[in-house]
Amino acid sequence: MDRFYQKCKQHSLKITPQRTAVYKTLEASSSHPCADMIHKVLQKEFPNISLDTVNRTLITFSKVNIIDVVEGRGDPRRFDPNLDAHHHFHCLACNKIFDFHDTALDQITPSSDIAKKFIITGKKIVLKGYCDNCRSQASTL
Ligand SMILES: [Zn+2]
Ligand SMILES: [Zn+2]
Repeated sequence: MDRFYQKCKQHSLKITPQRTAVYKTLEASSSHPCADMIHKVLQKEFPNISLDTVNRTLITFSKVNIIDVVEGRGDPRRFDPNLDAHHHFHCLACNKIFDFHDTALDQITPSSDIAKKFIITGKKIVLKGYCDNCRSQASTL
């Protein structure tokens, strides 16, 4: 939570109970939820909070680097509270996104062509396939 307060201060974002709750809900989740999922949880505490508010709050957070947006796989946009270096596994069946760490993947260096063309500030490897719960569906394809 400290990082949240720090970042808000740094970017002069007002720390409102709703903003704090949006962040807390995201941080407590390990499933890389979309705005809709967070909205459903928050409605218990804030019956009047709109999906639009939750969505805008999440986008504001991602713009100032409080959270991360998960790339790819189309809508709806998914969010990640974990800004530390880690990689993702996307399950094609249940649509869950799992975090994983792999020091061998951390050490992959892009070729000099890519490094010349872009300023690289981070690296995330995305693997896709079927998670443990869905592995039986992989064989039916
Ligand atoms: Zn799955
Ligand atoms: Zn993640």
